[in-house]
Amino acid sequence: MRFWVETLGCPKNHVDSDKLTGLLGSQGYSPATTVDDADLVVVNTCAFIESAREESIDVVLHMADVKKTSARLVVTGCMAERYGDELADALPEVDLVAGFGQNLTAATPVSLGTTRRSDFDLLNLPRPATTSPWAYVKIAEGCDRRCGFCAIPTFRGDQRSRSLDDIVREANELTSSGVKELVLIAQDLASWGNDRRRHALGEAVEVLDTGGTQPLVDLTRRLTNDVERLRLLYLYPSGLTERLIEAILATNVPYFDLSLQHVSRSHLRRMNRWGDGERFLERIAAIRAAEPHATFRSSFILGYPGETEDDHTQLLEFLEAAQLDWVGFFPYSAEHGTVAATLPDQVPSPLALERLREASDIQDAITARRRDDMVGEEYELLIDSPGVGRTVKECPEIDGVVFVPSSHPVGTLVRCRITGSRGTDLEAEVL
Ligand code: SF4
Repeated sequence: MRFWVETLGCPKNHVDSDKLTGLLGSQGYSPATTVDDADLVVVNTCAFIESAREESIDVVLHMADVKKTSARLVVTGCMAERYGDELADALPEVDLVAGFGQNLTAATPVSLGTTRRSDFDLLNLPRPATTSPWAYVKIAEGCDRRCGFCAIPTFRGDQRSRSLDDIVREANELTSSGVKELVLIAQDLASWGNDRRRHALGEAVEVLDTGGTQPLVDLTRRLTNDVERLRLLYLYPSGLTERLIEAILATNVPYFDLSLQHVSRSHLRRMNRWGDGERFLERIAAIRAAEPHATFRSSFILGYPGETEDDHTQLLEFLEAAQLDWVGFFPYSAEHGTVAATLPDQVPSPLALERLREASDIQDAITARRRDDMVGEEYELLIDSPGVGRTVKECPEIDGVVFVPSSHPVGTLVRCRITGSRGTDLEAEVL
């Protein structure tokens, strides 16, 4: 029996697919070389925003068209979890709609009602050997925050962190198989371990910048010497403590992925989020003072309910002041079950898109300038695939890449000089 897994959405979904692949392998399935060769076709969907849901549905329908008639079609992931029964009714082509941690090879449909139950914990499943020199490591599932726009906690639940030992074990397995870069991910990475500590202590633990201990600092320090590159993604800004900054700078990947979403203080409070542009700029300046070559990524939502012209102007001014390397902009999408969907002052979609274009234009020029500034400088490059590598300034799959002659073996670290830029990508000669 052969299987095919099609994955949509964010890095967290890709890790889930890796773990499903490992599980199917342990159940006697082997990977198919093409979709139409598979006996089991799994689509791991994304429900992030409307466009992601539409893409997921399109892919499911495409898979239904191209798979062989006898193959079973299973839909899993965020859409399955969130709209399970509705999805099963709307897509008669699908044999099974299965939420997280449910048995994809079960013969009968799984109810996704309130009685659903995980057959296994995806986080702790083994994963198959990787052929890539980098790998995501998912260190927690779910989120304890309640940002106004985000439906994730409603279907992924509160945060459940993996233990330090489990994570270190998986990291060591990956590095032993040749992985040179580990990318730690979670919905709210900076809060990793707080839930375990709360349970252990039986009390609430607030980990802000008070000098208290932060579990992620321990984990980062613990993994730093086990791998050539350690990268952390999705840092909620209040979790970016002094100690965590120090720990990240000690990893040799001074890359800060700050989940900011906006900068206007009043607007952030409407989003039920911490911080403001001034604090963010102070934190960025402090990091640059310690490491002038630090790289910054962030994402912002445009058109969240109540966003005024003044809020938007603050964001544009912040972009100019912060000079971030990489930014993702998303138009607000009203999600069922979120606070924001019920708020007054919804921003008309054309206005949200106009604001998005305005912010993107500013940031595109900044990103291009920062890429141009790298020309002539020397970096260490990790060769990801023939002719394509990354310095520490590029996160896999999200940022640009560096092109080099294809003679350098995949998985090697080489010294290079950047010779030119092509949009967000760079060209380099190996020294
Ligand atoms: S921290 Fe991220 S995952 Fe958690 S509620 Fe906010 S946006 Fe959603």
